[in-house]
Amino acid sequence: MSETQIPLAGVIGNPIAHSRSPKLHKHWLATYGLKGDYVPLHVHEEDLETVLRTMHKMGFVGANVTIPHKVAALHIADQVSDRATLIGAANTLIFRKDGKIIADNTDGYGFIANLRQNAPGWDAAAGPALVFGAGGAARAVIVSLIEQGTTEIILTNRTRPKSEALRDEFGTRIHVVDWVQAGNHIDEAATVINTTSLGMVGQPEFRVPLDGLRPGTVVTDLVYAPLRTHLLQVAEDAGCVTVDGLGMLLHQGVPGFERWFGTRPEVNEATRAAVLA
Ligand code: NAP
Repeated sequence: MSETQIPLAGVIGNPIAHSRSPKLHKHWLATYGLKGDYVPLHVHEEDLETVLRTMHKMGFVGANVTIPHKVAALHIADQVSDRATLIGAANTLIFRKDGKIIADNTDGYGFIANLRQNAPGWDAAAGPALVFGAGGAARAVIVSLIEQGTTEIILTNRTRPKSEALRDEFGTRIHVVDWVQAGNHIDEAATVINTTSLGMVGQPEFRVPLDGLRPGTVVTDLVYAPLRTHLLQVAEDAGCVTVDGLGMLLHQGVPGFERWFGTRPEVNEATRAAVLA
């Protein structure tokens, strides 16, 4: 990149107008006084490969990828990190000058970094993790929990065969339970994680019986709109340690920003405020 070129990054999705990633990366660029810009890019599925193959010619050094392109981006990429391969999706791309595309997935990293920052005593090996959901986000959560040493994952999903497929793929540490029975396993869990879209603005409420929540259990929700979901409210009232989903979004942006713009950004109160503004 010549001295006169501004390094660009962006987030590619459809729809994309509501993404908070531009606020996040623009905040970091301003905070560290770095040359660069970050834009939302609305891309249709049939155009994804053409767009990705052209971006380096326009000065893009990388991009985040979101719904519905995370799996397709992985297949288009020329090199894929081990964690993206395991998760089966990409959320962070690097465009090399020679046109090669490198794909990574930082969702699991963001999930763990958020817990470490906001539940400092959290120990993956302290006891079973109860995971609600078996979609794309659940894959990232499961891969990272296993990597961190969680010995048992109790997995439940409305559509049971999807959780069984994850157990078949990721191994015997995963113990599948029926969605309607999941509430009965809450008191066994050291960590409770909602990876479904339940509780998100415009989606049905997360209505699992939560009476089994115990003081000290770490409860986290990947949903961050609203910030304080019904699950987190009930957990807080029960004396649990609660961690909202915004931190995961902020932390998953760190590795990409560092690769594209050369500075490792910090996630702190100012970052949260900038993204919520
Ligand atoms: P996804 O692949 O579409 O999976 C959706 C999950 O939600 C599935 O397990 C699905 O169950 C479940 N679900 C949807 N409606 C349901 C209902 N009415 N009752 C019970 N279960 C229901 O989506 P995803 O990519 O995993 O994302 C899931 C959530 O995580 C979204 O809210 C997303 O915004 C959030 N997320 C947050 C972050 C972050 O940084 N905080 C990162 C990634 C994702 P079925 O299999 O039965 O359909």
